[in-house]
Amino acid sequence: MSATAPITQDVMTIPRKLPDGPANLVGLTRDQLRDTLIAAGTPEKQAKMRVGQIWQWIYQKGVRSFDEMTNLSKTYRAELAERFVIAVPEVVSKQVSDDGTRKYLVRIAGGHEVETVYIPEEGRGTLCISSQVGCTLTCSFCHTGTQKLVRNLTAAEIIGQVMIARDDLGEWPEPGKHPKDETRLLSNIVLMGMGEPLYNFEAVRDAMKIAMDAEGISLSRRRITLSTSGVVPEIARTADEIGCMLAVSFHATTDEVRDKLVPINKRWPIAELLDALRAYPKASNSERITFEYVMLKDVNDTDEDARRLIKLIKGIPAKINLIPFNEWPGAPYQRSDWDRIEAFADSIYKAGYASPIRTPRGEDIMAACGQLKSATERARKSRKEIAAEAGL
Ligand code: SAH
Ligand code: SF4
Repeated sequence: MSATAPITQDVMTIPRKLPDGPANLVGLTRDQLRDTLIAAGTPEKQAKMRVGQIWQWIYQKGVRSFDEMTNLSKTYRAELAERFVIAVPEVVSKQVSDDGTRKYLVRIAGGHEVETVYIPEEGRGTLCISSQVGCTLTCSFCHTGTQKLVRNLTAAEIIGQVMIARDDLGEWPEPGKHPKDETRLLSNIVLMGMGEPLYNFEAVRDAMKIAMDAEGISLSRRRITLSTSGVVPEIARTADEIGCMLAVSFHATTDEVRDKLVPINKRWPIAELLDALRAYPKASNSERITFEYVMLKDVNDTDEDARRLIKLIKGIPAKINLIPFNEWPGAPYQRSDWDRIEAFADSIYKAGYASPIRTPRGEDIMAACGQLKSATERARKSRKEIAAEAGL
């Protein structure tokens, strides 16, 4: 990619309604659900109430058939069943790591596959969800980046990943007993799976609105973190329209190195990215931004890098999440040595920033950061090809 080449999206969008199948109610916003019900004959006067009822069945109680919606008349249930479905993606396989991490291989319309990872932790559980099949971006250390973008996920497929994880965890609460955030198995969502969420903005926004809706899955916006590689124009919009926590894949302290690691940097270089990040906490009313920093041996892990990083982020409420590089077959990098990672973390900590080192989870099942990729779509680039593209 040259410095001026636009980063384009080559996305095949799929219609929400398949030509002759019933439409899926999952993934519709409240307004869309209302319009859909009215178009199908629900009297306008009743529509708001029906939206509320159906919404609760789908997102609070986790039902998948209209028959179970016992506060709707039998005739109305039958009418709904004729026209609509409540469909979530299919789980093709589930792998459970020695450390309890669960990786779901999820099949979506068109036969494509994405991965969703559940990470249990002390007192909480995080679901890492995907927003695209593949990625248009080609970060040179990322396994997903070696897979071309196949398509954007729909809002249904994004929120569907949360629903299938709740199915698997058995976490649809008994009526009237909504669990407190602290006791939930699935208490946090991170948009850190496959894809660049800000290149699928509307679907991600609609799905996260559903996740946050108090009458349904009801997760606080502070428990949702969206990770972007740095799609600058969409950052302000994320604050306005989603308001969740933001993480940024920073990974380098000079444009020269970041151009190679995160090629979107050629379009929106570090200075522009930092300007957008500076405005985010206030606009979204969130405390701080997470800077993700992958530790690559001899590439971005020197004391000088640490010093530069501290200088760059000055004035931004930040936490620096250091990610030991996770290897994947053919990767052109190595993980920094452990004492180097600790020394790096130390300098940042001494400058007054939290600098946790992210413990790799689920490595034995290739579920760790940047290892996700649809098995059926592996591009199988060689180490040499990747290194050449990265200009190394
Ligand atoms: N596309 C988004 C979100 C997905 S990646 C983004 O880039 O932010 C989640 C995090 O894992 C990102 O910070 C990403 O840069 C990092 N990552 C990717 N590949 C990795 C690898 N092999 N080892 C460690 N972290 C990796
Ligand atoms: Fe895409 Fe994120 Fe991987 Fe970069 S790090 S290739 S933006 S998924």
